[in-house]
Amino acid sequence: MERFKNIPLHDLADRVIAIGEKKFRAQQIVDWVYDKRVTTFDEMRNISGELKEKLKRNFILAKLDVNKVIESKYGDAVKFGFETIDGEYIIESVLLIDGDRRTICISSQLGCGLGCVFCETGKMGLIRNLTLEEMVGQFIGINDYLASKGDKPITNIVFMGMGEALSNFETFLNALEIFMHEDIYNIGGRRITVSTAGVVPSIERLLKEKLNIGLAISLNSYSNELRNELMPINKKYPIESIMAIARRYAAETGRTVTFEYVVIDGKTNTPEALQAIYNYCGGFDCKINLIPLNPSTGSSLLGPGDSSLEMFADALGRKGITATIRKSRGQDIWGACGQLAGKRIVR
Ligand code: SF4
Repeated sequence: MERFKNIPLHDLADRVIAIGEKKFRAQQIVDWVYDKRVTTFDEMRNISGELKEKLKRNFILAKLDVNKVIESKYGDAVKFGFETIDGEYIIESVLLIDGDRRTICISSQLGCGLGCVFCETGKMGLIRNLTLEEMVGQFIGINDYLASKGDKPITNIVFMGMGEALSNFETFLNALEIFMHEDIYNIGGRRITVSTAGVVPSIERLLKEKLNIGLAISLNSYSNELRNELMPINKKYPIESIMAIARRYAAETGRTVTFEYVVIDGKTNTPEALQAIYNYCGGFDCKINLIPLNPSTGSSLLGPGDSSLEMFADALGRKGITATIRKSRGQDIWGACGQLAGKRIVR
């Protein structure tokens, strides 16, 4: 039997027709599955008994099991562990709470093959891509949590959890189709950002899709030599190629490109770094988001103190480069950037 939530939205009408039903039924079912978040076909009140039986015979409908929910004591982040469909691994996702915003940091792969040295997910290697059900399931599970608290549903999405979303491209697009559809979650491109380590052909492909979502590139270094050390993908797509595609993205979408820059004290916040960033980023619509390195097991790299971080941001500002400092939400729950890791379930 086919898993219902693995069917791309654009194929659903055909599946419904294939079991002898009218096309409009697809929209009714979608409404129950994604908006009302039911777990059984029997709960779909405006669907006939005969259709419910057909659906049960042809499709599996389920939610991801919630393995853990850890709320930050600061009230600004919640880390979730969802079980994969095969029950083998935990997918980690984070809810960030900021004023009226409810942002999901969504995972797209189990592990990651890009091996950035500062990243917990990278230490796992790539186990596999997440399925559509596993990607959208994180969103549904977090909306269930928010509803249980009497809170509003998710308003913003960042693809910055485990894995490189652009390396799971088809599923990423299929998930966006559901998130952005005006009759389902209706989350516009301005409220969605995808983060990438800088896989240049995938960014080109994203441009062709004309989704107009935000792009955040993990830069993290000012020289190819250092970036090669921190992010092995740089040997294939060096900083110059990243800057060229970033300039194209900004010009063709009219969106500000964000460069995520993990500040490692004494390594990536030096005067040399400042000048190099200016040389790369001057003259196009971009901003630098400074992220203090978070503690990670087994690493000797250190994060900067608050004053050294602010000094670096001010110095960039004086050179005309917009620099922001990311408040590292969820630090007490290991839900911050580079700290998600989908551990194997031990039963
Ligand atoms: S930082 Fe992103 S791209 Fe790099 S290893 Fe971690 S998940 Fe992969």
